[in-house]
Amino acid sequence: MSFDIRGNNEIEKDIEKALRPLSFSDFQGQDKIVENLQIFVEAARMRGEALDHVLLHGPPGLGKTTLSNIIAHQLGVGFKLTSGPVLDKPGDLAGILTSLEANDVLFIDEIHRLSPVVEEYLYSAMEDFRIDIVIDKGPGARSIQIDLNPFTLIGATTRSGLLTSPLRARFGINCHLEYYDSSVISGIIKRSAHILNMPIYDDAAHEIARRSRGTPRIANALLRRVRDFAQVKGNGVIDIDISHLGLNALNIDQHGLDNMDHKILLTLIDKFQGGPVGLNTIATAVGDDAGTIEEVYEPFLIMEGFLKRTPRGRMVTPLAYEHLGRNLTGSQGSLFSE
Ligand code: ADP
Repeated sequence: MSFDIRGNNEIEKDIEKALRPLSFSDFQGQDKIVENLQIFVEAARMRGEALDHVLLHGPPGLGKTTLSNIIAHQLGVGFKLTSGPVLDKPGDLAGILTSLEANDVLFIDEIHRLSPVVEEYLYSAMEDFRIDIVIDKGPGARSIQIDLNPFTLIGATTRSGLLTSPLRARFGINCHLEYYDSSVISGIIKRSAHILNMPIYDDAAHEIARRSRGTPRIANALLRRVRDFAQVKGNGVIDIDISHLGLNALNIDQHGLDNMDHKILLTLIDKFQGGPVGLNTIATAVGDDAGTIEEVYEPFLIMEGFLKRTPRGRMVTPLAYEHLGRNLTGSQGSLFSE
């Protein structure tokens, strides 16, 4: 049985929706960003104008979609959601842009994956609220100009480094979301438990938070799984023992590292003497995609000090050896010692 703590399946998505905060006051953490966005939103509202375009970047599950929803809600405007890979042709983008009402929010997830030709179209849309569409082909081809309603583009990306500079320059507001402190995650878990009607003790919420990689989406997914354990193996209340039982059964270790994190670190240690190794080699060795490793796994492993990037490739740190119970000659200890 596989378990996806990153919440990529459909059921998790429904639950995510139920737990998604709808106002700035429900959105915990990222204080500076929220404070600024509230002012920008209020000002745009007072002027009756579209909010400036916003770029939100940071690892998956930190609240980019949630914040965008909240922005639209607080602006009192419509919200349309699409993503870079879905907008295949300029016509797809034109269809969405022409359907926007005045001051609406258009959210484009994974904006770094827009095709260059669609991106070109976006420039004039963002700057002048206008697009040029070429109709017909060959000698009869002509271009017509379409005026759009003013709108706010909110672009979300896990890889802002891949954004072209002309696109990046067109965003007036630029926010980098950071991993959350475990005390904030603990608050998010308690709020979610309340919505799911699940009693939870403070120490249990804190324990789940500690293992959530500073990521609300993972915290909510772990909470749901621990809830299953509380209902089947316990008395329906999430206490510290049930939390340990659930988290250990899911192979989430005391730092929040899961099987894939272990696989990456152990591959580096066992097959490559700790590195340095290129990203693509690691991806091939662990059987995952290089982009996913770079966007999803690596930032947390680097932040927690298990991995570092060097000009010659990725290297594990002494902390990783210690955490995984390996010494420099590669002998094995217990992975899940408490
Ligand atoms: P992203 O778009 O960055 O991948 P999402 O906005 O989809 O992340 O967030 C994933 C889930 O985490 C949401 O369903 C929401 O319930 C929860 N979440 C994210 N940020 C917060 C927050 N600051 N407070 C409470 N819940 C949050």
